[in-house]
Amino acid sequence: MRRQPGERRVILPGGTIGILGGGQLGRMMALAGRAMGYRFVTLDPTPDSPCGQVADEQIVAAYDDAEAARRLAERSDVITYEFENVDAGVADMLAKQSYVPQGSRLLYTTQHRLREKRAIEAAGVPVAPYREIDSADRLKEALREFGVPCVLKTATGGYDGKGQRVIRSEAEAEEAYDALSRAGTELVLEKFVDFAKELSVIAARRPGGEVRVFPVAENVHVDNILHLTVVPARVPASVAERAERLAARLAESLDVVGLLAVELFLGRDGELFVNELAPRPHNSGHYTMDACRTSQFEQHVRAICDLPLGPTELLSPVVMVNVLGEHVAPLLEWMKNEDGLPPGVAAKVHLYGKRAAKAKRKMGHDNLLAAGVETALEWVARSTIWRGMMRK
Ligand code: AMP
Repeated sequence: MRRQPGERRVILPGGTIGILGGGQLGRMMALAGRAMGYRFVTLDPTPDSPCGQVADEQIVAAYDDAEAARRLAERSDVITYEFENVDAGVADMLAKQSYVPQGSRLLYTTQHRLREKRAIEAAGVPVAPYREIDSADRLKEALREFGVPCVLKTATGGYDGKGQRVIRSEAEAEEAYDALSRAGTELVLEKFVDFAKELSVIAARRPGGEVRVFPVAENVHVDNILHLTVVPARVPASVAERAERLAARLAESLDVVGLLAVELFLGRDGELFVNELAPRPHNSGHYTMDACRTSQFEQHVRAICDLPLGPTELLSPVVMVNVLGEHVAPLLEWMKNEDGLPPGVAAKVHLYGKRAAKAKRKMGHDNLLAAGVETALEWVARSTIWRGMMRK
């Protein structure tokens, strides 16, 4: 049944949560929710998916298989998703046949960069200067207006830096336009933000309007893939407060139910721009699993089930390091005796149960809890697992 504006429906433990998507975000959601007593069913085309391994049941089918989605709806008291590229038709059908408190409107907004930017601006929150690009001439005009460097992005379908090109000279414009326009979607040109840091904030909101925000995280990407999350972020308290307030404002303005991850650029003059939104748990929120009083996954379950949101305070400084395919073998070797881990640092390894450790594939993460983030960061830089990453 479609959630009416303001509708509240409490799903208590014992109820079944259906998850569209069987990846690691669904897996960690199910692990948190099972601890609370919920049952889980997931729909994913890959048998034995990361979420399927820990759920009560997996329906093996394509995401846009209407009959499979109907079966998911039948078995679930409430349905959520763990990725945002949910087919709009399927989302609508699920909303009709089951209960999808997150609705499909936020998906529609965040599936398209231009719609997303307009919604952020409508909430009174700044984004980096951008222009919609529908021809090579329009691109040249916008480049003259902004100057170089700029970033050209496809409006849909991009992730981890895919579907985007940095343009450093007018000569590069044509090639970038040709390459990206082949995707057949609209394009967006953004002015390149000379950022001091990349930050993110995860906000949670219940159907009745209660909002809680997790501490702002500082993120370091390597080759466009998240490498490290550092919390507390090494920014002035005033910046952290602004970032957290802005995330809460967006969650309210977008009528979010569940989680909203807000990726931000902190400019060199202290200004904040939103880069992207994700209406789901986020890689940069994995630190909450060991370092906060409530994890982002438990918070998401609480929000969609309309239970009181948990406290979000940080219990310990933490550095989250992603484990990519190439890191798995040295990590497993290291786990035998945790060689070189400084005294007082606790390493909490989470692996997602994926079989093929392909290079660059996200296989797990390690939350390093320490009295201060510098000790953990120094160890990551010299460990046998991630050594050399930051020199790229
Ligand atoms: P996105 O796919 O939009 O999250 O972009 C991936 C990464 O590319 C970001 O995390 C940034 O490191 C970089 N990036 C994207 N857009 C911009 C921009 N307008 N200015 C500077 N860096 C950017």
